[in-house]
Amino acid sequence: MHEHDIDDHGLAAAEELEEIDETLCPECGGSGVTPAGEPCAHCGGTGRAVGGP
Ligand SMILES: [Zn+2]
Repeated sequence: MHEHDIDDHGLAAAEELEEIDETLCPECGGSGVTPAGEPCAHCGGTGRAVGGP
């Protein structure tokens, strides 16, 4: 019975995490560095999502 309450809490946390992810670079995930260890060319190493129309 308690499991149902926990599942609802996890859903809210996932929704908040998705909102934060929108501000981060989709290429490097906000780290500014690619998995290869090189500076992300998409955001220039800032880790922020590049604004665009
Ligand atoms: Zn990036």
